[in-house]
Amino acid sequence: MRIAIIGTGYVGLVAGAGLSDFGNDVVCVDVDEERIAQLRRGVIPIHEPGLDVLVKRNLEAKRLRFSTSTVESVATAEVVIIAVGTPTREDSGAADLRYIEAAARDIGKGLTGHAVVVTKSTVPVGTADRVRSWIAAETSHEFSVASNPEFLKEGDAVNDFMKPSRVILGVDDERAGKRLRSMYEPFVRTNNRILMMDVRSAELSKYAANAMLATRISFMNELSLLAEKVGADIEKVRKGVGSDPRIGPKFLFPGPGYGGSCFPKDTRALIHTADEFGAKVGIVEAVVQANQRQKRVLGERVSSHFGGDLNGKRIAIWGLAFKPETDDIREAPSLVLIDALLAGGATVVGCDPVAIENTKREIGDRIEYTIDMYEAAKGADALIVVTEWHQFRRPDFARLKDLMAQPVLFDGRNIWPSDELRQQGYSYYGIGRPMA
Ligand code: NAD
Repeated sequence: MRIAIIGTGYVGLVAGAGLSDFGNDVVCVDVDEERIAQLRRGVIPIHEPGLDVLVKRNLEAKRLRFSTSTVESVATAEVVIIAVGTPTREDSGAADLRYIEAAARDIGKGLTGHAVVVTKSTVPVGTADRVRSWIAAETSHEFSVASNPEFLKEGDAVNDFMKPSRVILGVDDERAGKRLRSMYEPFVRTNNRILMMDVRSAELSKYAANAMLATRISFMNELSLLAEKVGADIEKVRKGVGSDPRIGPKFLFPGPGYGGSCFPKDTRALIHTADEFGAKVGIVEAVVQANQRQKRVLGERVSSHFGGDLNGKRIAIWGLAFKPETDDIREAPSLVLIDALLAGGATVVGCDPVAIENTKREIGDRIEYTIDMYEAAKGADALIVVTEWHQFRRPDFARLKDLMAQPVLFDGRNIWPSDELRQQGYSYYGIGRPMA
């Protein structure tokens, strides 16, 4: 099948690589010329495990191409996938659809015959109708519009895309349904799980899924603060709750608050949609508030350990990315923590295996950086783990103690053995764990 993908970011590039690997003829388009130039040379602009191999293989096989022109790329496409960003609008919290509109209009200009245009970007209910009108304003050719929300997670995106737990297709006409089913069937040979529904239900499903996952996290984060007050250990509570098969163990880990390119913006957009339609999603509003509170917890804890005065203190942070195995720092809890520490007068050194470049782009030289985790801890008055990269899980604590100016640990992910560390003479603070 001839497929054009508009937007070559985390979603578009993974989708392009995956679809071409199954034999399709795929062109990935982006307005970012530098990104496209890199990709043509086989340089992958994002960190995503396994993606480099997949891109290289399909580039070499000439099943995958890169372009900066949507108009040219959609001319012969049977399916056009929109995978551009839908960030939050600064003025309202709604999803900003300007990139979707630009892509849709270019698609309209380029169509030379019937194509199925499918939105993979996360978009508010009703966006398909707007996409249809933006395209129709530019073409007299026939086309179908469909919705295909993406559920991959960064850090394991290739696996998720190649073996999806389900594929949701929102379609209003038979031709689109048939073509998209045929495109996805090779991906779901084992579980055969393609869920066909109307477009609006598909659009809402994506927000519902992200809001549900964010709810689980915020719920546990709130409970972790309660656990501290009542002298319970949230880690034991988590295991107790998660072993109930009706609940399950995933997304119950307390931590420094959720970040990333999806949960924060999608929960905000869902609240905005509900407002627009005169409905209320009070639970989601509470989830967002709880998360904002949670992102401040680590900073407040560090400040209170040092009696409210961080002047002259050197604080090391392990983990800048919003989660392991990605270089994405969008809305990462590390950024809120860094702001708080700097505002308190501390010097901050950040360590991350792949997210330093992106962090530098965002906050420049307001902090020091190193890729070496022990170097970061050298002379530090406190060490905070914010992202649970594998290498941070079992460091050499004796070595760390020698390197640090003061043996003070803040475990934002509850990955370290609290009792052992206290025995070794560390001050240890987790999230929702007994304080001493
Ligand atoms: P991204 O920012 O990584 O990539 C978007 C790309 O689109 C950028 O490279 C940008 O240059 C390009 N672009 C913008 N306007 C364009 C245009 N008019 N024509 C061509 N290219 C254009 O974004 P992402 O993380 O891949 O997310 C894309 C969408 O998918 C969002 O709606 C997001 O909510 C959704 N989504 C993301 C994830 C994820 O884990 N990142 C998962 C599921 C769904």
